[in-house]
Amino acid sequence: MANIPLVDRYQRPVRDLRISVTDRCNFRCTYCMPKEIFGRDYEFLSRDLLLSFEEITRLTGLFAERGVSKVRLTGGEPLLRKGLEDLVAMLAEIPGIDDLTLTTNGSLLGRKAQSLAEAGLSRVTVSLDSLDDEVFMAMNDVGYPVARVLEGIEAAAAAGLTPVKVNMVVKRGVNDGSIVDMAKHFRGSGHIVRFIEFMDVGTTNGWCLDDVVPAHEVIERINAAFPLEPVDPAYSGEVADRWRYRDGGGEIGVITSVTQPFCSTCTRARLSAEGSLYTCLFATAGTDFRAFLRGGADDSEIGEVIDRVWATRTDRYSEIRSDATVDLPKVEMSYIGG
Ligand code: SAM
Repeated sequence: MANIPLVDRYQRPVRDLRISVTDRCNFRCTYCMPKEIFGRDYEFLSRDLLLSFEEITRLTGLFAERGVSKVRLTGGEPLLRKGLEDLVAMLAEIPGIDDLTLTTNGSLLGRKAQSLAEAGLSRVTVSLDSLDDEVFMAMNDVGYPVARVLEGIEAAAAAGLTPVKVNMVVKRGVNDGSIVDMAKHFRGSGHIVRFIEFMDVGTTNGWCLDDVVPAHEVIERINAAFPLEPVDPAYSGEVADRWRYRDGGGEIGVITSVTQPFCSTCTRARLSAEGSLYTCLFATAGTDFRAFLRGGADDSEIGEVIDRVWATRTDRYSEIRSDATVDLPKVEMSYIGG
């Protein structure tokens, strides 16, 4: 079934593919990969279990034939995967992929931004949870300083990986005091800060609703300092609600996954580092494509599995979570990426 847009049971097309290229990370963010779980004894995937660049490219090509135009590389920390530029170059060649991006903690971006841009990366999103070293170091839990991430952001901008988006996960009582500072720092820079509601992802981050700062509160706090107005979404299914400064100082976004889930327009599929396909961040079971890839299946056989998985998709777990008290099972964010 080539070049026929694929839709799920709720008529949602598949447009975005998020590819985790490694389950490893050099940060131990307390809300994502806490040290108590991801400590010295934690067993990460061995190299042979990860999809190869050729396998990732082959699958992405099949997704592109079915309507995917946007690919985001993630992890773990994607820049830890050796030779990632080679994968970027391979994916950039796929017809139909017009937006090729990467989410990173920024630690290796200073070194790699230029080569990633030359390989064909369109832009980057950099995670940064505070401009205050004490707060940021407590959150990344490896003592990583803010200045080095800011250098990475500037290197990305200089390499043309723009607009640079900056993701800040907001946790009440931890870094919500940094909201206005972040807005102020990046106002007028051309970079777009996106404030993310802390999500109940994985079994390990001790999530509690009291820790969530609702997006409307983020907007109120920034608006009090720098007046804002809403911006229409650029396309259906856009993850962030967009706002701009009334004085022309640029744009910010809020990601309301907890208070206003956006399942009805979700067009995202997620491929784990070992080749399992998840049709929702909150899905607990994936479909093992590595087995098909390594078992000798041809493109039409693999394509049929993609078609079947997406066409039968009914996930809307964020919405279910927000109106029920049920404790749904979860999979780690670091496994399938953000
Ligand atoms: N290592 C990369 C990074 O730091 O951006 C990519 C992987 S990380 C899992 C992707 C994004 O997910 C980051 O922006 C991170 O802040 C976000 N994230 C992780 N856990 C989260 C949670 N519990 N709630 C909301 N966002 C989360």
